[in-house]
Amino acid sequence: MKKKVQRICVGCSAKKDKNELIRIVKQKDGIIRVDKTGKLPGRGAYICGEVDCFNKIKRTHKLENALETKISEHVYEEIRGVMIEQGK
Ligand SMILES: [Zn+2]
Repeated sequence: MKKKVQRICVGCSAKKDKNELIRIVKQKDGIIRVDKTGKLPGRGAYICGEVDCFNKIKRTHKLENALETKISEHVYEEIRGVMIEQGK
């Protein structure tokens, strides 16, 4: 059996399988991307995509702290879009 890779959500510290989390990447050029493939190069942070957790991340700037950059409303909207796709 293949070992599952686990990562920790920056918002609520829940440990989950990597493929259940949403990966946010800060690319070398400083651009923030929502990484649906899980393969983009750059500094990554994972969030679980639960609505409560997403609100917390936004309010407390936890994602910004994790990636050490400012995150625009547009990026949060993109994350929210991915959550909706996932039925959250
Ligand atoms: Zn979380």
